[in-house]
Amino acid sequence: MKNEKPVLVTRSSLPPYEEYMEMLKPIWESAWLTNMGEFHEKLKEKLRDFMKAENLELFVNGHTALEMAIQAFELEGEVITTPFTFASTTHAIVRNGLKPVFCDIKPEDYTIDENKIESLITPKTCAIVPVHVYGNICNWEKIQKIADKYGLKVIYDAAHAFGEEIDGAGVGSLGDASMFSFHATKVFNTIEGGAVVFKDPELKDRLYQLKNFGITGEESVEFVGGNGKMNEFQAAMGLCNLKYIRQNIEKRKKLTELYRGRLEGIKGIRLVKEQENIAYSYTYMPVLFDGYRLNRDQVYARLKEHNITPRKYFYPCVNAYQCYSSMYHPEDTPVAKKVSQGILTLPLYADLDQETVERICRIILED
Ligand SMILES: *Cc1c(COP(=O)(O)O)cnc(C)c1O
Repeated sequence: MKNEKPVLVTRSSLPPYEEYMEMLKPIWESAWLTNMGEFHEKLKEKLRDFMKAENLELFVNGHTALEMAIQAFELEGEVITTPFTFASTTHAIVRNGLKPVFCDIKPEDYTIDENKIESLITPKTCAIVPVHVYGNICNWEKIQKIADKYGLKVIYDAAHAFGEEIDGAGVGSLGDASMFSFHATKVFNTIEGGAVVFKDPELKDRLYQLKNFGITGEESVEFVGGNGKMNEFQAAMGLCNLKYIRQNIEKRKKLTELYRGRLEGIKGIRLVKEQENIAYSYTYMPVLFDGYRLNRDQVYARLKEHNITPRKYFYPCVNAYQCYSSMYHPEDTPVAKKVSQGILTLPLYADLDQETVERICRIILED
């Protein structure tokens, strides 16, 4: 068993080597490496089409995109968000000088519980930052209603929802803005990279300036920006990868169906129910062990024995992190705490073979 080929939770999608190499030639010819070059502009256009997004700005990574999206709205005070997410979501709020207020999640799809948001609103609340966890889309209608009632901004962490559509509309059309991540481990990658899709076209200049040090003219700097520019090598990778995105999503769909076929209906194993009006990108394969004869950590250990590495994602919850432990308690969000202790994301990537999925399921299910 020791010499079984290692299987990791994910594996980056890469275009054919020659295709990327070919893309590098014009970069050498122009010697234009970054600062919104030709490939940057081309990728932006192609992504706007693919994501059905009216307004889109590219960034060096998803985290910086989220940080700068939040900064662009010039917020002050408290932000209602979820503790069941990646560190980036909360850090982006805190690094903007804002205070996260954690709202619990729903046991059905692990997104923020829209029915618990209103009781957390105070006169200081300025925004809601929900997360489309594993590509499950939040209850955006209810969230928008609350935001409208109290005059709050809604900025989605849509890092898990690249390419998804809801009733035929790009998922980035929800709220005031959405952040997408193009990190190497995501469905679509530009090595590192990200984007903000946003509603108000007037935000375009601000986002552009924020990612370029707040520079507004050759001799003027009006904002305290940072450096969030995507470079040409990243954009070239994105252009290559985008050609294969549909077939990659199709492969992920097949693998997801295979996992579901094997694991659905097993006592103590819970899968999220898909919604009919959403076109998914099959970004993750989360499985909740809740009353199964093995607990999550036992399943994890068993898979590890077979050289298979799933991921306890998200565990721990953000409100259990050392850096936040003096201010927050995971007990305040019991559903998030419980889910984080039972969840395991299984290996899923375009080039994973069906036999491996069968094997993973056998290992989980065998006595
Ligand atoms: C990946 C991810 C991010 C951060 O994106 P990077 O591109 O890695 O900076 C933020 N939030 C969530 C939920 C993510 O999965």
